[in-house]
Amino acid sequence: MKPVIVVHGGAGRIPQEREDGSRLGVTRAALKGHSILKRGGSALDAVEEAVAIMEEDPQFNAGIGSVLNEKGEVEMDAIIMDGQNLGSGAVSAVKNIVHPIKLSRLVMEKTNHMLLTDQGALDFARAMGVPEVPGEKLISDRSLERWKEYLETVSKATPTPVPVPNPTLTPNPQEVQKDLGTVGAVAVDSTGNVACATSTGGLTNKRVGRVGDSACIGCGGYADNNIGAVSTTGHGESIMKVVLARLTLYHMEQGMSPGDAADAALNSMKTRVEGLGGLIVVSNSGDWAARFSTENMSWATVKDDQLHCGISAGEIRTQSVEEALGSIGS
Ligand code: ASP
Repeated sequence: MKPVIVVHGGAGRIPQEREDGSRLGVTRAALKGHSILKRGGSALDAVEEAVAIMEEDPQFNAGIGSVLNEKGEVEMDAIIMDGQNLGSGAVSAVKNIVHPIKLSRLVMEKTNHMLLTDQGALDFARAMGVPEVPGEKLISDRSLERWKEYLETVSKATPTPVPVPNPTLTPNPQEVQKDLGTVGAVAVDSTGNVACATSTGGLTNKRVGRVGDSACIGCGGYADNNIGAVSTTGHGESIMKVVLARLTLYHMEQGMSPGDAADAALNSMKTRVEGLGGLIVVSNSGDWAARFSTENMSWATVKDDQLHCGISAGEIRTQSVEEALGSIGS
């Protein structure tokens, strides 16, 4: 089996000045995952490390660079899933750690549970010796700026703030979508195992304690060796209503290709609940797709020693892995 890794850096609108940074971030992550798969590593290790590298990159809304909740704090969600045995671990509303994806893996491997939240997740992280960082270390200039902009947008849009049903559509889709830069990865390894991982700071100005799709199995991600693996991004409440990751795999079970299944699932989300987003998918035979209904989604994949990446609809840039390694300076 030829290994494949696909990563995304979030669905939304990527302003021109951020395109290079996003492209570089997803390229680095895909190459990291590929290096693990190439030396015979597992799909699970590849997706964890690919996501961890993006959690360290302030370009993305995950780990360092996470967007801020209504109180101006970082609260993160993440999930990891092993397609071999349907094992999964997730965390929600976690603070003060750089790698929620690694904590999710510990939940999967060291507890009998699937999802730990808030204080319980923090206590578990401490018990596992996960390093803690001050909250400010996770806040980037950009996430702070976006939070302030968002507050202004909402206060201008309505005299009395009301909950925004789908921030990717209202009150100002172009502006609000800028924030969406969740990260994710899916992979199939040389033994045919698949895995997925997703990590996010959620939505700007979300309520304290809001849990999004990225911590919920079948929504933010799903992996099953019998079909394939998916990681999603976009408006969490819409993703949860249609259980987007599992819906995509359902379409594949019915015989659709990964690309058609992704389009069909995203289309249902748009028509049924007016939700926008994106996803990456790999089948257990190594076919993959990266699709989105938002203006942009940064993604990258490595298969057969070729790196492909894109940001806008229909865009695919291709380089050899060797060239790509040169371009990121390693
Ligand atoms: N799905 C994430 C959430 O709603 C946000 C995103 O993907 O950008 O928490």
